[in-house]
Amino acid sequence: MKFPYPERKGQMDMIRDIKKTLSRGGHIVIEAPTGFGKTISVLYSSIDYALKNNKKIIYLVRTNSQEQKVVEESKKLGVLAVSVQGRSNMCPLARDNEELKHGNAEELSLLCHKLKKEVRNGNESACPYFYNFLRDSKELINFVEEIHTAEEIFEMGYLLKICPYETVKEAVKNATVIVLPYIYFLLPFMRRTLLDTMSTELHDILLIVDEAHNFPDFARELKSDSLSEITLERMEKECLEFDNRMVAGHACADVAEYIRETIYQMENYANDGEGVIPHYGFEETLAKIMSMGINDVTKLAMELIKYGETIREIKIKRKKIPRSYIYHVGNFLLNWKDSYSYEYLHLVKMGNVPRVEIFCLDPSPITEIVRNVHSSVHISGTIVPQNYISLINLPDDTELQRYVSPFPPENLKVVYVEDVTTRYTELEKSIFKLSKYIEMILDVGKNTAVFFPSYALMNRTLQEISADVVIEARGLKQSELIKKVDAFRQKGGAIFSVFGGRLSEGIDFPGEQLEIVVIVGIPYPKPTVRIKMLEKYFDYKFGAGWDYAFRVPAILKIRQAIGRLIRTENDRGFAIILDKRAAHFTHEIPMQKSHNVINDLTSFFSKRE
Ligand code: SF4
Repeated sequence: MKFPYPERKGQMDMIRDIKKTLSRGGHIVIEAPTGFGKTISVLYSSIDYALKNNKKIIYLVRTNSQEQKVVEESKKLGVLAVSVQGRSNMCPLARDNEELKHGNAEELSLLCHKLKKEVRNGNESACPYFYNFLRDSKELINFVEEIHTAEEIFEMGYLLKICPYETVKEAVKNATVIVLPYIYFLLPFMRRTLLDTMSTELHDILLIVDEAHNFPDFARELKSDSLSEITLERMEKECLEFDNRMVAGHACADVAEYIRETIYQMENYANDGEGVIPHYGFEETLAKIMSMGINDVTKLAMELIKYGETIREIKIKRKKIPRSYIYHVGNFLLNWKDSYSYEYLHLVKMGNVPRVEIFCLDPSPITEIVRNVHSSVHISGTIVPQNYISLINLPDDTELQRYVSPFPPENLKVVYVEDVTTRYTELEKSIFKLSKYIEMILDVGKNTAVFFPSYALMNRTLQEISADVVIEARGLKQSELIKKVDAFRQKGGAIFSVFGGRLSEGIDFPGEQLEIVVIVGIPYPKPTVRIKMLEKYFDYKFGAGWDYAFRVPAILKIRQAIGRLIRTENDRGFAIILDKRAAHFTHEIPMQKSHNVINDLTSFFSKRE
C-alpha cells in the first residue's frame, strides 16, 4: 500500500511503532502534536495490518463532525470506510417530526425497533423508509460506499425514501474501517449491536481512539446520572396527563412531591451548595417522608418503572418519543441503589435547580473493555500517557510514544514569569501586577488571546485595564460567540476568555489571526466537593490524588491553549504563563523563565519581520 502524501518528519517512525504493537496484539498510547498527520499515519499502519490479518478497524471519534476526515483518508488508502451516526441525525421520521427530533439514542432505538417489527408483520405504513429499505436499497448502499458526508447520505435516502440509517448499517458489513462516536463502543448494548452488524468479535478488532484525552471523562459521564427538580416537575405533568396511577400506595404525582422534599432535606449535607450524601441518607429520608421501610424504596422504583413502561408503550403507538419522566425517576432510584460502590459518589447540589447526582469517579470499569480487542491505538495532541493508561486501565505493557512537532521548533516560544500568581492566598498581592502584564502585552499590538481560570478573575482584571477587547462572557450563545470570533478574526486585537470555555479548545485561529496566548494563573480545577473526592479516590487507588484530580487536568488545559497558536508550518506564536507555579510544569510543557516578557516578545516577533 502506498502512503498517499509526502512524508512528514516522524510519520514513518509512528507507522513502524504502531505496526509493531499490532503484530504483538498490544496497545499503544501516542502523543503527537497538531500538523503531524496522525490520522493518516494511524490509518495507514492499521489498514495494512487489518487487510493482511483479516481484522476490522473501529475508529472512535468524540464528535460526529470528526468522522468525515477519517472516511476520506481511509478511501485514499483504497478501503471502504463507513461513518455511523445516530438515528437523531439519520432517521427521516425523526427529521420530519419536531418531537422525535429531540429523542435520545435509547428512545429512538426503542421506537425504531417497534416500527420495524410492525413493517415486518405487514404494516408497511408504520415506517415506509424501512419498508423501501427491505425492498431495494442497492442504489443507496452504492452511494454510501462512495465518499459522501452523513448529511449527503441522509439527503439521498430522504429523496429515495429509503432509510439512510439502516443502509449505513448494511454498508458496515463490507467496510474495513467503521468510524463512530465513543458511545457506540462504550455502551454494552450498542457495542453488541455493532459487533453483530459487523459479524465480528472483539478479538478481531483494531480499535483506534481519537482525541483520547477526552475518553476517560466521556466514560465517567456516561456512568453518572442526576435527578433534578425539573425532572420531577415533568413527572408530575406526566402523571396528570395519564392516569396518576397509585404506585407503592401513593398517587404517582405525590411521589414526585415526596422526592422533591427529600432533595431539599439533603441540603443539610451541602456546604457552599454541594455535598456528599452519606450511604442510605437519601433512601432513609424518602422512606420516612413516605412512611414506609427503606427496602420499599426499591419496590417504589420498580413500580415507577413499570408505570413508565406502560406510558412509553402508549407513546410508541402514537408514534411519539417513548419518553417517560416517571420511568426516568424509577430508573434513577434503582441506579442510586446499585451505585453503592467505591467508584461512585452520591451528591446533592442546591442552587437554581436543586438535584441529587450519582457521580462516577472511575472510568475504568467501562473503559477496560478495550483490553479485550486485538489491539488498540490511542492518539492525542495533548495527553499525559501514564496517567491515561492508569485511568482507563490499559495493560501494564502498553507502549507509550511521543512524537515531536514536524514544524520548526523556533516557531513557538513558551515562557512563564515568576513574580505573579493566582494562588488564592496571594492573589490580592498579584492582581495589579497581573493586569499590568496583560496591558503591556496587549500594547505590543499582536493578535492576542488571554485565558483566565475563572470569569470572576477575568471581570476583575477587566476593571483594571484600559483596552478594547472582545470578551467571551459567561453564558454567551454559540451564535453570538461566532460573531465575536469573526470580528476578532477580521479586526484582530485581543480576545478574553476562560479555560474550559469554547475558545480555549475548539476554535482554530490560523496564521496571524492569533500570535500571542496569555495564560493567567494555573487552571487547576476548582476544588469543589466532587473534585476533592476525586483526589481522595485517586489517592486511594494510585497514591497520586493531586496529580489525577488537579495537576494533570491543568497541564492538559494549558497545552490546549498553547496549541491554539500553531496549526500550520508557517504559524508562529508566543505563549506566556503569568504564574510562578508554572515552574512545576517544565517537564510536561517545554518553557523558559522570562525576566522581561516585553523584550522576549519583541525579539521573538522581530526575527520574522
Ligand atoms: Fe427511522 Fe429508519 Fe428506524 Fe424507520 S427504520 S424508524 S426511518 S431509523
